Amino acid sequence: MLETYGVRIGDLKLYRARERVGKDINGDHARGYEDLFQYAAVIHKYDLGAICKVLCDAVTRPEKVLFQRFFMAFPAQKNALNNGCRPYIGLDGCHLKSKYGGALLAAVGMDANNGMIPLALAVCEIENTETWSWFLEILHSYFDNGLEHITFCSDRQKDLLGAIEITWPTAYRRPCAWHIYANFCKEHPSVSLRNLFWRVVSSTNKFDYAIAMEKLKKEKLEAWQWLETELAGFTWSRHEEKPCLTMLEEIRCMFMTLFTERKKEAQSWTNIPPRVKKELDAAYECGSKMNVMASGDLHFQVKDKGYYPARRFIVDLMSRSCDCGYWDLAGIPCTHAMAAISHARHTTTEYLPKYFSKEAYLNTYAVMFKPIHDKVTWDPCDRPKLFPPEITKKIGRPKKSRKRAATEPIKKKTDHFISAAPFVVG
Ligand SMILES: [Zn+2]
Repeated sequence: MLETYGVRIGDLKLYRARERVGKDINGDHARGYEDLFQYAAVIHKYDLGAICKVLCDAVTRPEKVLFQRFFMAFPAQKNALNNGCRPYIGLDGCHLKSKYGGALLAAVGMDANNGMIPLALAVCEIENTETWSWFLEILHSYFDNGLEHITFCSDRQKDLLGAIEITWPTAYRRPCAWHIYANFCKEHPSVSLRNLFWRVVSSTNKFDYAIAMEKLKKEKLEAWQWLETELAGFTWSRHEEKPCLTMLEEIRCMFMTLFTERKKEAQSWTNIPPRVKKELDAAYECGSKMNVMASGDLHFQVKDKGYYPARRFIVDLMSRSCDCGYWDLAGIPCTHAMAAISHARHTTTEYLPKYFSKEAYLNTYAVMFKPIHDKVTWDPCDRPKLFPPEITKKIGRPKKSRKRAATEPIKKKTDHFISAAPFVVG
């Protein structure tokens, strides 16, 4: 402030001003929970077939009904997963930085152009097995269309594994970040980089993560940059400091715009989506330098000189696999497969799953989010006004976690949320 404007203002004054500005723009944080029942009803009214669930807590403070959780998913998203996306759901969460804290849970899919697509969203008190189970149960009942064998993917394995086991027992669970890995291999094929990659994505805390990223940065700057942007590609950080209703509505609008833009984008495409086309062209180029030996019509030995010493891979066009593992993992033929396909004089499209077509992409974005009317026109709601959750976050500097002495008893966490579920709208 001093450097920019030559004015000296006390910290507290600045803080107050900042809070006041924040209030004006975003509405009060506490009041951000008040009308969530009304918001859910409005969504149900204007976007038929949407699902909004409000869970509240009437136990902690007997005189008030406190907000606990909010889940929303829309027909556009249901259509995307059931009619166009790959049978894959990625799960992710982040902490909310607003005054009342909480966590945002999200389910994302992958479209035909390898783009991430939001499928459902929830705000809840904390990220744990209980809240993830709640999230997955609603997700399962909403996206019910023959998706029993969907693949789940997440770096939040500890809380999630149990939750997926309970709610979606027939689902496959992939090791974390396999889709990012598949792309990473393509861009950075060296073995040492792959090891570093796994160390980054499997790190369970920020400290290990930072160390692993630092090692990767030293090894190869481009690989580090690539991974950094890839991992940061789908953050909600622009919204997570806003009051709850404002945040939810902004995210909903963001989804509406995203679906519209993606739908428009595909109009100029020929058949294969551009990112997939680019990858296939690169794989073809790379494969054309390989030495291919056929064994009958559909089996091949492919010598890849990109390794030192050169390595041999077996491609099976019948089962659409290569023992480098990439084809099975990503669904897109690897360089070795491309070498075999062109040796056999087959066309690439024969070997591309329908998930990677323009048709699948257009189906994904065939249903749009509906516009929602201004808040002043919303119908009155007979449900109670909601109060913010109890603040669990301490004001001031966050406490450093300390080591417990060996003799000290472990404090039991009391969970007052489990018993509280009096109102559910849905
Ligand atoms: Zn291969």
